[in-house]
Amino acid sequence: MANKQVLVLGAGQLARMMSLAGAPLNIDISAFDVGSEHIVHPLTKNVIGHGLNNAIAAADVITAEFEHIPHSILDICEQSGKFLPSTQAIKAGGDRRIEKQLLDDASVANAKYAIINTRSDFDAAIEYVGIPMVLKTALGGYDGKGQWRLTDSNQIDSLWNKISASLEATPEQAVVAEEFVGFDREVSLVGARRASGEIAIYPLAENVHVGGVLSLSIAIDEPELQTQAAQMFSAVANELDYVGILAIEFFDVQGKLLVNEIAPRVHNSGHWTQQGAEVCQFENHLRAVCNLPLGSTQAIRHTAMLNILGQDSLPESVLAMPQCHVHWYGKEKRPGRKMGHINVCAQSKDELKRNLTELVNVLDPAAFPELQAHVAKL
Ligand code: ATP
Ligand code: MG
Repeated sequence: MANKQVLVLGAGQLARMMSLAGAPLNIDISAFDVGSEHIVHPLTKNVIGHGLNNAIAAADVITAEFEHIPHSILDICEQSGKFLPSTQAIKAGGDRRIEKQLLDDASVANAKYAIINTRSDFDAAIEYVGIPMVLKTALGGYDGKGQWRLTDSNQIDSLWNKISASLEATPEQAVVAEEFVGFDREVSLVGARRASGEIAIYPLAENVHVGGVLSLSIAIDEPELQTQAAQMFSAVANELDYVGILAIEFFDVQGKLLVNEIAPRVHNSGHWTQQGAEVCQFENHLRAVCNLPLGSTQAIRHTAMLNILGQDSLPESVLAMPQCHVHWYGKEKRPGRKMGHINVCAQSKDELKRNLTELVNVLDPAAFPELQAHVAKL
């Protein structure tokens, strides 16, 4: 295998971790910062090039670390013939209308929904989907932003004011109304697909969100649920003729999975694979897009990941814990911002709980809200 140059659209922590994972395979990453339009080194953030066209010419492969990319940029990348997974997959991740259509086309179960552009669509959605319902902007939503809940018919008019303001603010915007799913828990699946159709899927992770943001992910070993999730993963990945890592978030409703959403990229709920799987999601994404054999996705031990949000320091004692692995993203501190994560490992489920308990006991509870209570419930 030869040295490869991969251009990543987006210059955040996912490009950074791709860079770290690619280095041993001689895969070099440069990152296109969509805000500044500079080509930067994903680790140092030093500007290493100007102009998307030059970077495209220098790259063997182009991929993306997020789905909210201007379509004009996606089109330029697509024209080069080097872009993977595909603009169709990125658009499905970035527009809930396209995503819902994709799930229906792939015949995978998802929450009943309706699309709202006008007040009469809203009234029809209330009739069809029912109350309670969750409303989500079609474009631009992440970490629970751009969402509303309708729980009582007396909220309809005031909610419409908010929805119509959001529709007016962005041309092309729409709102997807979804039935409120009374799930038991949320799980997600990360897997890789290669152009040949070869698929390698990681164990499911169980996810805990606090305030709409992922707080804790724990890899689980539940064969029945895994089989269901893997079947749905293959249906979506094959429908898209997908190449790279694809993540799928599910609601677990009494052992039956419904797809919540997809992410056409490496995913926060797959960060545990850095310490917990034979080959991590970042390396497998690069292997897939570079058309190299996929690495083993097998779990090698029990692992959990917890997100560090809005904090740029940790007690030094965390580094002294032998089974804790700290990953900082080198970002400037902002309230609620994803700043890093900690992977916690163990040889058994019981030991994982002990290690997590020991860890949360030294963390500032104000910086990790609700975490102690969630770990105590494990
Ligand atoms: P992220 O980018 O963090 O994945 P997001 O902003 O794209 O989040 P969703 O994953 O669609 O949004 O929703 C965020 C959370 O809101 C979900 O993880 C789930 O807890 C809750 N939620 C979303 N849709 C529904 C639903 N139909 N019924 C019940 N809860 C829901
Ligand atoms: Mg989500």
